[in-house]
Amino acid sequence: MMPSTAEDLHRKTFFYNLLVPVMNKYVDGLDEGKAMYLLFVKPETKTPSGLMARPVLTSYYKSNNFKNRPFNRFNVYTSPDETILCSDSKQSMYCQLLCGLVQRQEVLRVGAVFASAFLRAIKFLEHNWKELCSNIRTGHVSDWITDPGCRKVVSLVLNKPKPELADLIEHECNSKSWEGIIKKLWPRTKYIEVIVTGSMAQYVSTLEYYSGGLPLVSTMYASSECYFGINFKPLSKPWDVSYTLIPNMAYFEFLPVKKKNEDGAQYVQCNGVCKENCMEKETEKEDVETVELVDVKLGQYYELVVTTFTGLYRYRVGDILMVTGFHNKAPQFRFVHRRNVVLSVDTDKTSEEDLLKAVTKAKVIVESLGILLIEYTSYADTSSIPGHYVLFWEITSKGNNHLPVLDHKIMEQCCSTVEESLDSVYRRCRRKDNSIGPLEIRVVQHGTFDALMDFCVSQGSSVNQYKTPRCIKSGEAINILDSRVVARFFSQKAPFWEPV
Ligand code: AMP
Repeated sequence: MMPSTAEDLHRKTFFYNLLVPVMNKYVDGLDEGKAMYLLFVKPETKTPSGLMARPVLTSYYKSNNFKNRPFNRFNVYTSPDETILCSDSKQSMYCQLLCGLVQRQEVLRVGAVFASAFLRAIKFLEHNWKELCSNIRTGHVSDWITDPGCRKVVSLVLNKPKPELADLIEHECNSKSWEGIIKKLWPRTKYIEVIVTGSMAQYVSTLEYYSGGLPLVSTMYASSECYFGINFKPLSKPWDVSYTLIPNMAYFEFLPVKKKNEDGAQYVQCNGVCKENCMEKETEKEDVETVELVDVKLGQYYELVVTTFTGLYRYRVGDILMVTGFHNKAPQFRFVHRRNVVLSVDTDKTSEEDLLKAVTKAKVIVESLGILLIEYTSYADTSSIPGHYVLFWEITSKGNNHLPVLDHKIMEQCCSTVEESLDSVYRRCRRKDNSIGPLEIRVVQHGTFDALMDFCVSQGSSVNQYKTPRCIKSGEAINILDSRVVARFFSQKAPFWEPV
């Protein structure tokens, strides 16, 4: 949990206000229509001392800074505030999409905070377009929308029956392929505003499929601790995006990140499989001094350290950044990766340690049945929406080297045990937000992890120092594992979660 103050809301407002002129510099006419931004609030709780605790964006959307924002014709949303502030995420999503569809001719840009949330909205549309069209046709919102605020504002937006509009949307949604559906449903859209850097880069190709070639715009780099930087070239390609740190958002310092090879040479490039781990371990070992914002060097990697107005002192955010250039004298950074995170589908951030703990608990179940887990690794499968965690397990019967007979129920229990053991953000995404699908265990045949090692070595890993990567990013490595899968199991129930 991060400390927050009322005063900091103003700093965030200042930051959001900076985004508007940046976009206007590159895209004309944004005052001639609206933005369909799908924004959501999440559950909140209280600390034992009675302080409110909630996700940073929920805090902002519920503040007067957001609710009583002055009218800005460059920043008009299709979603009425009541639909954004609705605590029932399904009703919120439905109503925001309904309002976005009704106002489709006015929409100039679409988006959500993260790419994963936007794709979830497209999936939701795929499942609900018939009902949405029926509401547009009749001018009446569905009965299951019971939130009084939502009902009231959506009825105003719907206004009257619009059968032609419903026909048009139905026609587009009915087509076999949804390629370019965004452009078809919202024909005046100039770009999609979603963060597609960092762990969200995995969604770029799916977004491109649905977008029909629209630019993907990552406007900002921010966190619960502090809002950091702005993308001053918003139309650059996802892999070219750099953020300029806004110097008055916090006091920024940088821990140089270097890895030395056995021969003493610096090493920052990955071998395609385990880049994150290589870079991170070295920083922790070295007693390095921080570098000031004005002293960072082009091409160097750093870990971000912040001292914030709200009470964090020299706090290691955990993000590794690379200096790519300067905006006037302010350095610009590419987001490289988050230290210690091996798996992420939505806002979840699972570390190697979290994964090990969770797998260890599940391992106990199979061990009691005389089965050994010899090796495991994982990856975030985002080829379907929502994405889900996949674990590859190589297992054997105790006493012989044979693949044991696998009991479906037991293996499913292993999947659930792993999920129950992961952290609260994972469990919230999985249970409440439905932004992560059921965890899957893929059992692989004997020798699969030897084949993975051969592959890693062929890609430059040292044989002596080889360690099984606990997360796989390389498509080739995933293919090696996938081609040897003998059985698949999915978690059958969402893990326990409550807002504590
Ligand atoms: P949270 O505090 O849970 O909102 O997560 C903040 C973290 O999300 C940051 O420290 C980054 O690791 C990641 N993040 C936020 N914005 C971006 C961005 N534009 N690109 C890449 N990663 C980001």
